[in-house]
Order: sequence, then structure tokens, then C-alpha cells
Amino acid sequence: MTRATILIVDDEISNIEIMNAVLEDDYEVCFSTSGEQALETARSTQPDLILLDVLMPGIDGFEVCRQLKADPELVDIPVIFTTGLGDTEDEMRGLSLGAIDYVTKPIQPAILRARVGNHVELKRLRDQLASMAVTDALTGLSNRRQMERALQTETARLARAGDWLSVIMLDIDFFKQFNDTYGHPAGDRCITMVASALTRAVKRASDLPARYGGEEFACILPSADPHGAELVAQEIRLQIQSLNIPHERSQISPFITVSIGVASARCLPGMTPDLWITEADRQLYLSKHGGRNRITVTQFDLPTLQAIAAGTP
Ligand code: GH3
Ligand code: MG
Ligand code: MG
Repeated sequence: MTRATILIVDDEISNIEIMNAVLEDDYEVCFSTSGEQALETARSTQPDLILLDVLMPGIDGFEVCRQLKADPELVDIPVIFTTGLGDTEDEMRGLSLGAIDYVTKPIQPAILRARVGNHVELKRLRDQLASMAVTDALTGLSNRRQMERALQTETARLARAGDWLSVIMLDIDFFKQFNDTYGHPAGDRCITMVASALTRAVKRASDLPARYGGEEFACILPSADPHGAELVAQEIRLQIQSLNIPHERSQISPFITVSIGVASARCLPGMTPDLWITEADRQLYLSKHGGRNRITVTQFDLPTLQAIAAGTP
């Protein structure tokens, strides 16, 4: 397990030295001597916990805490205030600003070690839960929730420049028969292998492959135009085909195949993520009914969709 990082913030070097001596054997320790510097260091190092002095010249500890809790990138970092003995009001104010705990100065090593240890462990468990909530347990790919969240973020981001966005949906062909023939555990292994083939085919760092549900997968391709997205879809089909997973009861191939639907559009303000899902799903349906083991691509735009919905194409 990698060591947790602790950021110590205190304008008095002697305090930093005392706390560092307690923590340095168990943690990566970094420090700041002002509020301004603390916010910068928090952003650049993303520590697992911050020990924050209240009284500092410039931005004080309360203000640092307020800014940390207002920043989506930093809000989850637990903050422990370090206050003078008997500053009950300071403690109350710190806790009300979202600090998780406080320790009093002069520092008692055993107390500091115990409190930091507890909160680092809780943070680790919270991070683990957060990661489980967005990961598909069988394949390790992003799950549907994470995929929908990413699509929301991407539509908002790409709409600013009117850039392309493509979504690929794919579904394993005759998978019910695969389970019936080889058993459910073999079905699970097949899904896992398809997931890794999908990951191999999708190469850009900003592309997101995901398990959409059951034997259905999706892939978000930011900035990919219809041609680029089709190339990725071809690579996905090839990678899955070259797994050569036998499927003797498939009606179209001796091996596992997938049907693919691709939807591409220039992302404009007012366009919602579900447009891409619906259109990609429609293309997937066409691939299934056109004989499976194939790719169908559509390029859509909002005015045309609206005209079709209004019955005036
Ligand atoms: P099509 O070619 O039209 O897609 O036919 P299909 O048989 O693949 O589609 P259908 O939707 O009828 O069946 C999907 C099957 O996928 C049924 C379900 O038991 C199986 N399945 C879904 N999730 C899992 C899973 O996690 N593991 C296993 N082993 N099977 C799964
Ligand atoms: Mg299927
Ligand atoms: Mg299905």
C-alpha cells in the first residue's frame, strides 16, 4: 500500500518540526507556512489529510478551510485544525466550517498519531467506497453511472467549442445461447475478455469504455467525428473477433461476435447526453436486425431530430 500524504500548515517552523517528527516514519509529509501556500500545495499534491493551524498572518486557517471546502477538487480532503489549548470557540468554528477534528497545542505525540491514523484510515475507506460506486465489479471498467456522469461532463465541456462527440454502444451476439451452452461462469469470463479487448481498442486517454449493463458495453469518444468513431468501432470489432472465443450455437460465426451502433454529433448548447445514447442504441438495433456482427453509424443534429419528432422531415 502506498503511504498517505499529510500536509502540515503552520506559520511557526517549530510546530511543523514537532509534528513532522511524529508523522514522518509513517507518512509522506509536506508543509506550508502560510494560508496562500497551503491552498497551492493542496492543489498540487492532493494530500490525504491536512493539519491546519488557525492563527496565521494573511489568510488564516478558517479561511483556508472555507476555500478548501468550496473547491470540488479539494473538498474531500479531511482537515484537522491545530488550536491552542482551551480555544473552545475556535474549535467550534473549525468544525462548523467542515473540519473533521482538532488537536490542541502543545502537541501530544500519541494523540496526534492516533487521530491522524484514524482519519487517514477513514479517508482510505471512503476513497475505496467511492471507487467501488463507479466501477463494474466483474470487468473493472467504469459502470453505467460513471459513464452517464462522464457524458454529462463532456457534453457541457464540448458544447463550448461546438466540438464533435461520439458514443459507441455494443452488445454481444447470441449471448443467451453462449450461457446456455457453456454455463454462466464461462459467460462471465467471456464478458471480462470482451471488456479487455474493448480497452485495448480504445486508445485515447480521454476515451471512456464502460460496461453499460449485462453483455452491453458503451464507449464515449470526446472530439471524435463520425469517421474517427467508425475507425474505433472497427478496431473494437476486430479486437473482440480476434479473441477467438468459441460459440458453437451462434447463428452467424463459430466465435463470439458483437453488434455495434455509433452516434456522432457536433455538441451544441441544449443537447443532452441521452440524445447520443438513444441514437447509438438505435444504430445498435439496426446492426442486430441487419444480421449482427456489424457496425452501423449515424451522424445526427438537433434540428433534424426535432423535425423528425414533429413529423416534418
Ligand atoms: P442478441 O444477439 O440479440 O443480443 O441476443 P442475446 O442472447 O445476446 O441477448 P439477450 O438480451 O436475449 O440475452 C442476454 C443474455 O446475457 C442473457 C443474460 O443471462 C446474459 N447476461 C447478462 N449479464 C450477464 C452476466 O453478468 N454474466 C453472464 N454470464 N451472463 C449475463
Ligand atoms: Mg446480446
Ligand atoms: Mg443485451
